[in-house]
Amino acid sequence: MLVRLMYASRAVPAVDQEELVAILKKSKVNNPRVGVTGVLCFSEGIFMQVLEGGRTAVNQLYNRIAADARHSDVVLLHYDEIAERRFAGWSMGQVNMARLNPALLLKYSECAKLDPYAVSGKVSMALFDELVATAAVMGQG
Ligand code: FAD
Repeated sequence: MLVRLMYASRAVPAVDQEELVAILKKSKVNNPRVGVTGVLCFSEGIFMQVLEGGRTAVNQLYNRIAADARHSDVVLLHYDEIAERRFAGWSMGQVNMARLNPALLLKYSECAKLDPYAVSGKVSMALFDELVATAAVMGQG
């Protein structure tokens, strides 16, 4: 039983590049142990993350992440039972915003800004799919 979950949240002001690296490092250690894969995106204080894996593992991890004091306003955008993973190659990949074409954001939203609070979960999911398709994800494994 595989599921895919996507959420958005707002980072607390203290979260900087160093903290982001620490979160990714921790994810790369923890996630393979429980068979979770996914992608994390961080832009202008907004996190978006997709988690894939067994239902229990994904739910447990989501609950742990949601309680993390490094972010707030955690909103579930998408949850589905899936036949196969989309992000199997990443224990936790990071969207490389530097390589992101603003036109891709404009394709899905009113302005070229990542704002999952302003669009549907379906749109956020479609954006993630394109990010992966355009190889704007780094941190393999
Ligand atoms: P430890 O690292 O030993 O931490 C023990 C406790 O301290 C936990 O309650 C933890 O939340 C807290 N803590 C640790 N470091 C800090 C810090 N710098 N500031 C404040 N509190 C801290 N974890 C994953 O395993 N996989 C993920 O994919 C993942 N994605 C995340 C995405 C986001 C946006 C955020 C904010 C966090 C994410 N985390 C992820 C981290 C997660 O919330 C937990 O901190 C982590 O899983 C705890 O790991 P641990 O059980 O090994 O405990």
